[in-house]
Amino acid sequence: MLANLRVMGRPVCGRSLIFLAILVLAACAQIDFPTPLPAIETITVAKPVDLSPTVVSPGTSTPTATTSPTHTITPTPTNTPAPAPTPGPTPDGIYRDVRVPILMYHYISVPPEGSHRYRVGNSLPPETFIEHLDYLQAEGYTTIYLKDLISYLVTGAPELPDKPIILTFDDGYEDVYLNAFPALFERDMLATFFIITDFATEAAENEAYELYADWEQLAEMAAADMEIGSHSRNHPNLAGNDLDYLVWQALGSQETIEANIGYHPHILSYPAGSYDAFVIDVFRSAHFWGAVTTEQGVDQDSDHIFELKRVRISQGAGVPQLHALLNYDWPE
Ligand SMILES: [Zn+2]
Repeated sequence: MLANLRVMGRPVCGRSLIFLAILVLAACAQIDFPTPLPAIETITVAKPVDLSPTVVSPGTSTPTATTSPTHTITPTPTNTPAPAPTPGPTPDGIYRDVRVPILMYHYISVPPEGSHRYRVGNSLPPETFIEHLDYLQAEGYTTIYLKDLISYLVTGAPELPDKPIILTFDDGYEDVYLNAFPALFERDMLATFFIITDFATEAAENEAYELYADWEQLAEMAAADMEIGSHSRNHPNLAGNDLDYLVWQALGSQETIEANIGYHPHILSYPAGSYDAFVIDVFRSAHFWGAVTTEQGVDQDSDHIFELKRVRISQGAGVPQLHALLNYDWPE
């Protein structure tokens, strides 16, 4: 699993700047932007290759004795192939649909007295979360990566287990690292964590962000085969924004995750579930493979890999509620 997930990264800053510059130029020239936007990894800058033979100036005398000139074999200059950019799975054009619940968790803790209703409404006590995990295992569910669901939908591979399920955690709270991660790890279960990258960066030293896991904690989860995805840089509503802003959110969050975790993330959770067709275009062009929404449902299909549905786990949802949610006849 780990090998699948890991990507040999390479510095992307230069590439992103070039990409951004091209996008800005195109916008200024009011060129109708093609959809999808140009693939970032395909824009490479050729390094100048010096093809001229090395010439030793005849007038240069060297104090050391030189032997007769040897013909060094100059290797044929080759275009060094860039590290594979991990292109997304290539769609085979076959329509597929599958029932895969994608559960949406936020906080795994008991909120302190007087907490904001958003936090209260999105918190699950650790004991209840552990009951969820034990229930899912007893019912024969197998946790899979979100990227594997997307790959299955568009290519048919990898094959999915009998009762696949995806556990997602939005926002990257520290209580998830403290209370959910160990329980998942103990049970050999996988989960997907969507990180607000600017907040994770602040978490290590800024008290205002103490509720968020820092990069050290997130790297530990990634090293334990947990899947990490983007939840943007700073959790804005993405819908209605212009190209520059969306590129900044897409590439900025991707690069920050790659720099801290060591692999290039390809999955996204729209902050507050906010997106539109243009948001999808930009993130697809930035080599995201797919995204989850906050729309409720369990039926996923290959025409909507950037609009995957989820099942929200709200405050106090114990095993009976989880059972009901998983067996509900969700409208398609
Ligand atoms: Zn969020």
